[in-house]
Amino acid sequence: MLTEKVAVVTGGNRGIGKAIALAFAKQGAKVVINCSAEKSLETANKVVDEIASFGGEAFAVVADVSSFSEAKNLIDASIKKFGKIDILVNNAGITKDGLLLRMSEEDFDDVINVNLKGAFNCIRHAVRPMMKFGGSIINMTSVSGLSGNAGQVNYSSAKAGLVGMTKATAREFAKKKIRVNAIAPGFIETDMTHGLNDEVKNEIAKTIPLKRMGSVEEVANVALFLASDLSSYITGETIRVDGGMIM
Ligand code: NAP
Repeated sequence: MLTEKVAVVTGGNRGIGKAIALAFAKQGAKVVINCSAEKSLETANKVVDEIASFGGEAFAVVADVSSFSEAKNLIDASIKKFGKIDILVNNAGITKDGLLLRMSEEDFDDVINVNLKGAFNCIRHAVRPMMKFGGSIINMTSVSGLSGNAGQVNYSSAKAGLVGMTKATAREFAKKKIRVNAIAPGFIETDMTHGLNDEVKNEIAKTIPLKRMGSVEEVANVALFLASDLSSYITGETIRVDGGMIM
């Protein structure tokens, strides 16, 4: 499905990003696995090795996407290695939850800088080389950005911003055959949700029509759809993968 395609996945070393990187590589894409810092390189290289184990091609690049210059290094390194970029997945994300009355300026800025500005930084550097052949950009938003979530003013703002960024970018680059879409996962089993105890998880699961958390593979399947020609007439869209949580 993605033979000869080159994909950059930010935060591709674990969680949802890792599942997306593996799914793309299994469909023939060459994948750049980004992680935030040197300390994560070991996990990123494990993903590279896993991809190599089934005959795929990947390499790891350390870059903090919230930095404009490091995002440029990521894109430059990807093009140097594979010659082009067809697919960019802005998946890197963090949470720093707390009620607004107690939220520090730093916690607000950090979450905006990684989740929202990080996507801008990567798109800003990748889109010009992508204009040559067209392609697909996928932004990882969240149901928190669609419905709002108490205790996540920073995260909900960043993720809602990504929905706007997705639509504006889709309009700007449609004529260059670059489609831009977003995925809004609900409650997915990863390190991000690992901190919650079983009782809380069970309570949340009860409120979800499908009565369970989602898996990273279920999000990766939608990323594969949006990255491939199966979604060739879809742009500016946000697809929820949330078991019906906020319909
Ligand atoms: P995760 O397991 O916590 O992984 C986060 C990933 O983002 C890691 O690979 C991390 O790299 C990377 N990252 C963080 N800051 C970065 C930075 N400054 N530069 C580059 N990479 C950075 O999270 P996840 O659950 O897989 O979430 C992936 C995306 O889905 C996020 O955007 C998240 O907001 C969104 N999402 C998740 C859920 C959920 O329920 N899990 C729901 C809705 C939306 P390091 O390992 O180097 O830190």
